[in-house]
Amino acid sequence: ILFGDVEAQVVTWRQALGVAAKFRRIEDYYDISGTELGSGAFAKVVLGTSKTSDPPAKYAIKIIDKTTLSNSERESTASEIAILKLVRHPNVISFVDVFDSKSTLYLVMELCTGGELLSRIKQKALTEDEARPIIRQLAEGVAFLHEMGIVHRDLKPNNILFVDKSIDSLIKIVDFGYSKYVAIPADASASYAGTTKFWAPEILNHAEHHKPADIWSMGLIIFITLCAAFPFVGKDEADVLWNISKARFATSMPQYKALSREVRDLIQKIFSLDPAKRPTAAQILQHPWLTGIKPSGATSLTSPLLSPVLNPSSPVLQASR
Ligand code: ADP
Ligand code: MG
Repeated sequence: ILFGDVEAQVVTWRQALGVAAKFRRIEDYYDISGTELGSGAFAKVVLGTSKTSDPPAKYAIKIIDKTTLSNSERESTASEIAILKLVRHPNVISFVDVFDSKSTLYLVMELCTGGELLSRIKQKALTEDEARPIIRQLAEGVAFLHEMGIVHRDLKPNNILFVDKSIDSLIKIVDFGYSKYVAIPADASASYAGTTKFWAPEILNHAEHHKPADIWSMGLIIFITLCAAFPFVGKDEADVLWNISKARFATSMPQYKALSREVRDLIQKIFSLDPAKRPTAAQILQHPWLTGIKPSGATSLTSPLLSPVLNPSSPVLQASR
């Protein structure tokens, strides 16, 4: 159903929602009179309380007014739900349920109470030690999505949420409103074998064209988190856009100059003009800034308590390269 047309990415409303969404009323399951948690272009997100569990559990419910959606917005909402239903990862927001009334769509998700990454940076830039676990989790989430053939396409500090208010809170990637399937998973491709051999290389390589755009967004997030400033500057907006088009970021900014050699190396690699030269999310996870292992030796840059649980197959063995 989901992978039939790689170019058009069409997921119908009914396929995405499932039959049950239409025949149950949200009022019977959730109290949605809670406070507003946030809002975006097409939706608002409110605090919802379950009526069917004891003690009542709290959720985030995205309320989408269907009457204001264009056809293509309807399509991307369907794709948002279909993708959320499919994805299970500690750093991606969990889908709980969906309800579909005549005019409104309700998307029930797990609740994050720690706020957006954006609001933690607004006060002041994070230190590298504070940012590292956040960026590591972001890379874990993106690596997982990309492995599944999903690109997010709207990664930014307001779509990264903290599960709770603690300083070492888990983070979750939210807002799959622009996300797309870009690849046919290996197990689904067999049924398209007859069709796929007629595809041009650019269609087959579709996925690889979209993933580096998410990586670019990760570069923006890393820079913004550590410098509390946008990496592309200029005398006016046209100048800023010109610099973006040339991948010319503000290396002379004092906050940037004060960063460690490791993270500057990572940022520089991510801001490659050639998308093919940007590291993948999996490669970012292996970067010395995140592993705490210097390429030249086995010296840890972080205290053992702060370092990640190392995957036995990866960083240590690659450290000598
Ligand atoms: P839009 O597609 O309109 O941008 P989002 O899915 O990004 O909608 O949600 C808008 C805002 O609502 C987010 O930036 C965030 O502040 C808040 N929000 C979204 N999902 C959750 C959640 N699961 N828990 C808590 N707040 C959330
Ligand atoms: Mg959003």
